[in-house]
Amino acid sequence: MHLEELYQTVILDHAKRPRNYGPLPEPCQKVQGDNPLCGDEVTLHLKMNGEDRIEALKFEGQGCAISQASASLMTVKLKGKSRQEALQLLDTFHSHLTGENPAPLPESYGDLLALAGVKQFPQRVKCATLSWNALRTLLTETKD
Ligand code: ZN
Repeated sequence: MHLEELYQTVILDHAKRPRNYGPLPEPCQKVQGDNPLCGDEVTLHLKMNGEDRIEALKFEGQGCAISQASASLMTVKLKGKSRQEALQLLDTFHSHLTGENPAPLPESYGDLLALAGVKQFPQRVKCATLSWNALRTLLTETKD
């Protein structure tokens, strides 16, 4: 199997069977994001714990496979991370996908490497970064 095929499988799997899909019990933080160019929508539900770590992160949304798989993969990757760790992961992911950082995405990103290929398709980068940008808003705007 070629790597490209593997990555395709990861994306389709997460798009069809999204992980951490649905709302969280109140109280939790919420943010909506949309990408009108493609019609993607995502709502994030976030709960931080007393140590400023992500205790729970879930999403709801609709749109293309890339946008929904990216949100699903993000929730898996970031659960349990501190606010600082999460912001660093968000920044790194964003800079690689936009091509700002030309190096390959670090191996530690695991299944998220499946999304690295979108940087060859600039119009899809917004699909892949939609949920990440929305989470950045939540993590930087509010603190409770
Ligand atoms: Zn899209």
